[in-house]
Amino acid sequence: MGTFNLNSLVRDNIKTLKPYSSARDEYKAIETDMIFLDANENPYENGVNRYPDPKQKDVKQVLASIKKCNPNQIVLGNGSDEILDLIFRAFCEPKEDNVIILPPTYGMYKVLSDINNIETKEVLLSANFQPNINEILNRANAKSKILFLCSPNNPTGNSFDAQSVEKLLKEFNGLIVIDEAYTDFSREKSWLNRLEEFPNLVITQTLSKAYGMAGIRLGICYASHTIVEILNRIKPPYNVNELTQQKALERLENYENVEREIAKINANKKLLLDTLPNISFIEKIYPSDANFMLVKVDDANLRYNQLIEKGIVIRNRTTQPLCENCLRITVGTERENLNLINAFKEIA
Ligand SMILES: *Cc1c(COP(=O)(O)O)cnc(C)c1O
Repeated sequence: MGTFNLNSLVRDNIKTLKPYSSARDEYKAIETDMIFLDANENPYENGVNRYPDPKQKDVKQVLASIKKCNPNQIVLGNGSDEILDLIFRAFCEPKEDNVIILPPTYGMYKVLSDINNIETKEVLLSANFQPNINEILNRANAKSKILFLCSPNNPTGNSFDAQSVEKLLKEFNGLIVIDEAYTDFSREKSWLNRLEEFPNLVITQTLSKAYGMAGIRLGICYASHTIVEILNRIKPPYNVNELTQQKALERLENYENVEREIAKINANKKLLLDTLPNISFIEKIYPSDANFMLVKVDDANLRYNQLIEKGIVIRNRTTQPLCENCLRITVGTERENLNLINAFKEIA
C-alpha cells in the first residue's frame, strides 16, 4: 500500500524559494480606473502595452466552469510542455532522482528528463499497449518522483485501463502525471473529477489538440491546491501572454464550437476507420480514443515516402518500441481524408 508524502517529494531549494514578486502581483485590488505607474510600461494603449495577468484569472474561471473544478486547482503554462518542465523542476533533483515512463509514448517526457539531468526508467507497455503494473512498481524506488501515464496514449491511441491506473494511483509513492492531451476525443472519462481522491494525481491537458489552438500555446495542469501552489511559486510570472489569454477566453466562451468540431472529427475518424481496412498493405489498425490512429503496414518506410511524394505527411513511428512498421495518421478534414485514401489506393 502506498504512503504518499508530498512534502518529501519537493526539492529542498524549491521548499525554501522566495518567488519573484512582479508588479502586477503586488498590487492586488485592481480597479479599472487606477493609474498604473508601477511596471515601467509604455502608457499609450495598443491592446498589449500592459503586462498580462500573471494568474490568468479569467481563463481559469471559464476553464473551471467547463471542467467542473476549482480555479485554484489549475496552473496554466506556455503549452503542456512548460507545465511538464515545471513539474520536473519542482520535484526532481538532478543526478539523484528518477522518473518512470512507459514507451512507446510521447517523446517530451524523456527529453525534459534529459534536459533536467534526471534518470529515466523505461517500462515497456504490454503487447496490447497497457501499463505493466507489477514491473512499474518493482522498478520504482524511493527516488522515483514521477510516473508519466499518457492516456489516451500517443502514438498508440488507446486509453489505459481504469483499474490499472487506479491501482498505480494507490500504490505508487511519487506523483502520477496523467497526460490527457487527447481526452476530449475519448469515450473514457477524464481523471479530473477524481483529484480529491488521489493527492498524488496531476493531470495535464492542452488547447493544442481538440480545442484547435496549437498556435497560441496554452497548456493546463489540474492538481491539488497544494501542488498548484508549488508550481505557481516557480513558474515565470508572465508565462502566458496577453494574446494567448484573449484568444483562449474567446474560444472557451464559445465552447459549443469546440464540441461541434470534436464531433465532426470523431465522425470523420469513423469514416476513415471504415475505409482503411480496404487498403491491401494495411495489416492492422489499432483501437483509438484519440484524433489519430496507429496502423501497421507491410513496410512503413516505403509507404511513408510514397505518401510524401503524393504531398501527404503522416508520422512514421517504426523506430519506436512495439511499433515496428507502424504509421500514425491524424484525422484531417473530409477532403484531406479522402485525398489520403485515394493516395493509399494509388500506391497499393
Ligand atoms: C500534442 C501533445 C501534447 C501537447 O503539448 P502542448 O505543449 O500543449 O502543445 C501533450 N502531450 C501529448 C501526449 C501530446 O501528444
